[in-house]
Amino acid sequence: MFSSQNEQDSRYYAMASLIPVLEPSDSAEAHRFAKEAYEISEQFDTPVMMRSTVRISHTKTPVEIGQRQEIPKKHYEKDPSKWVMMPAFAKPRRKVLVERIVSLRKWVETCPYNVVERASEQQAISSVRQGIICSGSVYQHVKEACPQVDVFKLGVTWPLPKNALQDFANSVDEVYVVEEASTYLSDAVKSCGIVLNDFKVPLPPDGELTPSAIRISFGLALPEHKDSERDIPNRPPALCPGCPHRIIFKELSRLRAIVTGDIGCYTLGALPPLSAMDTTLDMGASVSMAHGFELALEGDHRPVVAVIGDSTFAHSGLTSLMNTIYNKGAGTVCILDNRTTAMTGQQGNPFNGVTLQNRPSRELNLPAILEALGVDHVQCVDAFNMKAVRAALKNATQNDDLDVIVFQGSCVLLDKSPKQSYVVTPDCTGCGICKTLGCPAIASDPETGISSIDPDLCIGCDQCRQYCNFGAIEPREGSR
Ligand code: SF4
Ligand code: SF4
Repeated sequence: MFSSQNEQDSRYYAMASLIPVLEPSDSAEAHRFAKEAYEISEQFDTPVMMRSTVRISHTKTPVEIGQRQEIPKKHYEKDPSKWVMMPAFAKPRRKVLVERIVSLRKWVETCPYNVVERASEQQAISSVRQGIICSGSVYQHVKEACPQVDVFKLGVTWPLPKNALQDFANSVDEVYVVEEASTYLSDAVKSCGIVLNDFKVPLPPDGELTPSAIRISFGLALPEHKDSERDIPNRPPALCPGCPHRIIFKELSRLRAIVTGDIGCYTLGALPPLSAMDTTLDMGASVSMAHGFELALEGDHRPVVAVIGDSTFAHSGLTSLMNTIYNKGAGTVCILDNRTTAMTGQQGNPFNGVTLQNRPSRELNLPAILEALGVDHVQCVDAFNMKAVRAALKNATQNDDLDVIVFQGSCVLLDKSPKQSYVVTPDCTGCGICKTLGCPAIASDPETGISSIDPDLCIGCDQCRQYCNFGAIEPREGSR
């Protein structure tokens, strides 16, 4: 919904794989379903998919944790007829799968995850009894928007409880499926032989569903609310003050390079004022798209530069780079080594020597790996040093070889000790160059252009000082 214009509805994968899908509607259910998914998996000898949408992943609701249960380990037993899928084994396994689906379809009719909630007589606002079929976070919106309707809340969205749904449809005068930016559920319910009623206004085909959007679809009035004040300033997302990626994007912008980006905090390098990134598609695509640009734009004088974080590179950049090397590709790949997996919450990765459980581990030697793969030139550069960054990029983009620059600079969130902030002196001319770094700590007077630095945001990374041609930025005395 927020990172992909064609966000895939993962339930289609479950349908194709013939595995059950559990869809929690809040944090407590996510916790409960995750545990019980293992039990279902054991019961039916099947993988189980847990589907979490944006709103489930980004909301917090009370969860009762309970006691941890230690489960005895099972012995592994060799069974090629189950685990080696070649034709002789796959054909009989298909029969097992078909039998399992029959069992799952029977189980889902009465399992505790699908629940019918009836509206009370007091809640009903018309003589026409309406029923809504829904799942996941949409259920919460439905309960808020339409307390007057009966609700069939699906906790399992594949396979569907065909008989129970038909009984529900028969128990109401009108039946609707409310779902978010998808027709998966309505198509699946219709395939159970249930005729759905049309909304007065179709549900929005994009974006997150809201209680208001649901009320509009049913032709219901919206509750009165006061508009927020209009003068609240926008706060677009930005790289943190002191982020080690800032100089790199500033210099790529100066180079007018074609920059293929990747997935991480550094995707923010695409936004003004840095505006340094041309593409971001999926993990590892920065390297392979740079290779494609190099081939497609042969003769174009603009340098092509891929930008990828250290953990993303470990995840899926290595194979793209191997492909570039194998196919004799050129160009420049920048690996932004900030010593963590910053965007998702500071997890470990193979290049920072910490496991996902935050335990010490072996740190893979990134430059050695690059050299072993056969990269023509590998440079390691201090990401906070403007002159070094500029020189490395110039050097790498002016030859016809494949260059990889490892920019080293820790994520600012790793070291939370007090820092000396910086200050703008009276020498400031208002030229505005420091503002082009996009540091949230730097502001300027709208009339004079004279800059100022917010001491509460600035962490004294020194990046802006290196760009000021008038020596007007310096450490603030006494701050720390
Ligand atoms: S770069 Fe220096 S002179 Fe220019 S606005 Fe910033 S502080 Fe002032
Ligand atoms: S030193 Fe400059 S660039 Fe670094 S955090 Fe402070 S204001 Fe931002």
